[in-house]
Amino acid sequence: MHHFEYRGGELYAEDVPVSTLVAAYGTPLYVYSAATLRRHFTAFDSAFNGLPHLTCYSVKANSNLSVLKTLAAQGAGMDIVSGGELYRALAAGVDPAKIVYSGVGKRAVEIEAALTAGILMFNVESTGELDRLSAIATRLGKTAKVSIRINPDVDPKTHPYISTGLKKNKFGLDIEHSLAAYAKAQELPGVTPVGIDCHIGSQLTSIAPFLEALDKILTFREKLTAMGIETTYLDLGGGLGIQYNEEEPPHPREFGQALTKALGTLPLTLILEPGRVIVGNAGILVTEAIYTKKTPSKDFIIVDAGMNDLIRPSLYDSYHAIREVRPAGRPAINVDVVGPICESGDFLARDRDLPAVAPGELLAVFSAGAYGFTMASNYNSRPRAAEILVDGETVTVARRRETYDDLIALER
Ligand SMILES: *Cc1c(COP(=O)(O)O)cnc(C)c1O
Repeated sequence: MHHFEYRGGELYAEDVPVSTLVAAYGTPLYVYSAATLRRHFTAFDSAFNGLPHLTCYSVKANSNLSVLKTLAAQGAGMDIVSGGELYRALAAGVDPAKIVYSGVGKRAVEIEAALTAGILMFNVESTGELDRLSAIATRLGKTAKVSIRINPDVDPKTHPYISTGLKKNKFGLDIEHSLAAYAKAQELPGVTPVGIDCHIGSQLTSIAPFLEALDKILTFREKLTAMGIETTYLDLGGGLGIQYNEEEPPHPREFGQALTKALGTLPLTLILEPGRVIVGNAGILVTEAIYTKKTPSKDFIIVDAGMNDLIRPSLYDSYHAIREVRPAGRPAINVDVVGPICESGDFLARDRDLPAVAPGELLAVFSAGAYGFTMASNYNSRPRAAEILVDGETVTVARRRETYDDLIALER
């Protein structure tokens, strides 16, 4: 459920007509709905009310400060994967005691910043990282609380690029090496194991792979307990999918019920790292048709948003619903919706049945709130889009549109 709806024949973001936003801020334009963010966060977080838990929103899905602040105000913790995301989370006023730090390639300066900030824990992905954490924490006179990220070798049945818990993936440690890593963490100065972590992939549309991973982790946890290593946190990562097209992902409630049942009364605090399920359907990308073009084999709508603005269709062959901002009732034709970028992979939709829109008309690309702007680039020297946060009738420019001066500001 989201708050982008048609009223009187035109698309609104909450109580503001999308066309009004475009008149003020231009296209391409990311528009987020604060009510949707709050609603999604609350629906997700409350699904786990039966368990001690902490919901750490995955910053990489959408890291705009206004988005982070909106979620932090609901009590969200954050899952970060870089020093930059730490900086953003702190700037948004997130309590460091609610921040977990994931990622295979944490650099020394990033580790130092996170230790200094006093984050909740590091999700460690290699023994080299343990050594580095130990050295830095010891030098700073601090203790790094760690979970080892276990790679449970579970197939999340999603796109290969967003599968992360298979043996062949770069993430985490396999179960056998993990035992040795915990023993090492127990020995090393400056490091304390406090939890177990995993994240098996993104856009999962069934609960079964999560339960399969959880089962392996709980068995693993018994081995740790037998070794005298007590863990109080269980971080199951993110990955719950959303509806882009005809997927039928489980409601967070079902996910919560299944985990509550599986975890029973174990003395654990569950950590969850949802990204997409919070922000995905809380954002749209609005774009203007520049030209229409007929070739012997295809009809194209050429729009002013490209793969530099939203790379998901090009990178993952993802489906995003596209609708007119002001539906004109024309019959559908089969088209490719493409951007201005000099790449054949620059498309937002292929072989899509859409009304024959005319140049100058606006289209809304739905479900663009997650991995949209955060993956945007300046390719083809295109200034990045503005981001707008709508809350009821209130409009905030969450990020102003980049200018040509911005494009060259760091160069000489
Ligand atoms: C990307 C990521 C997430 C969020 O995944 P979603 O599919 O957006 O929920 C959570 N945890 C880790 C470690 C990640 O890399």
